[in-house]
Amino acid sequence: MAQLSIPLNFIGTLYREITTSLTDMDAMFKLLDEPAEVVDNPDAADLVVSNGAIRFNDVVFSYDADRPILKGVSFEVPAGKTVAIVGPSGAGKSTISRLLFRFYDVKGGSIEIDGQDIRAVNQTSLRKVIGMVPQDTVLFNDTIAYNIAYGRANATEADVVDAANKAQISGFIATLPQGFNTEVGERGLKLSGGEKQRVAIARTLLKSPPILLLDEATSALDTHTEREIQASLDEVSANRTTLVIAHRLSTVVGADEILVLKDGVVAERGTHAQLMKISGIYHSMWERQKAADQARDQLAKALEAE
Ligand code: ADP
Ligand code: MG
Repeated sequence: MAQLSIPLNFIGTLYREITTSLTDMDAMFKLLDEPAEVVDNPDAADLVVSNGAIRFNDVVFSYDADRPILKGVSFEVPAGKTVAIVGPSGAGKSTISRLLFRFYDVKGGSIEIDGQDIRAVNQTSLRKVIGMVPQDTVLFNDTIAYNIAYGRANATEADVVDAANKAQISGFIATLPQGFNTEVGERGLKLSGGEKQRVAIARTLLKSPPILLLDEATSALDTHTEREIQASLDEVSANRTTLVIAHRLSTVVGADEILVLKDGVVAERGTHAQLMKISGIYHSMWERQKAADQARDQLAKALEAE
């Protein structure tokens, strides 16, 4: 896609607004559409991140007491590495990302970043180091520029445009009457799921945080766009601690470790090659997805030929 350089005139107000809202946790929760359940200890310290290693120690969690979701999940994402979580829908994958972002506290076990229990640190400092692309993005009722620049107070106009280019959203923005200054509407309703997802990806690319949390970040995109954005995401996640919840297995082949979550436990773990050797859940998920991809390609070819 052509690199766009659109004359923009938003940076002045943007600075002020973003500096204000960075400390505004209400806005944050509105943005991510999650309840503000967790309260900081008044004396909670700042999270100190040296290299961003994540550790889940025997984590137990349920939303409702009578229905366990995670029944003792342990794993590590060593600093700079990528760990992928796959598994059937409803397995608790997004729950893991919500717990790491501390929308909820664990019911048992603990989550640590660089050796610090995330319950002991304040939420602002925790969320500052994590770039999250959630499964369903809710945007601020503000401009596209604001929504991309949110999370990095010192973003320049060029930074915003660059992030939009990398997230493959500048072409779309160029078609809008006000370009980057277009209001996305109440809860971003004027944008499609894929467009919102690309805005969230642009925001994360711009924030460039030490820890990346991608929850089916490209699931609402067509295969072609997904492939192009994947390259940008791979670039940010290189040498950065990354937890990726994957919808398409082809995007996790290169992960340092893949966890298969099923019925609240890690049922299988290993690299792609290791998991393919044991003919288990991952192997059959892979075969099923391959068959579906082939069927789709054949259909596309047949339609082209008509
Ligand atoms: P996945 O991302 O693997 O598809 P989730 O982590 O989103 O699964 O959800 C795991 C289970 O927890 C599902 O059965 C889901 O219905 C349930 N769940 C998710 N969020 C809530 C909630 N806020 N309250 C009650 N149950 C929930
Ligand atoms: Mg999910």
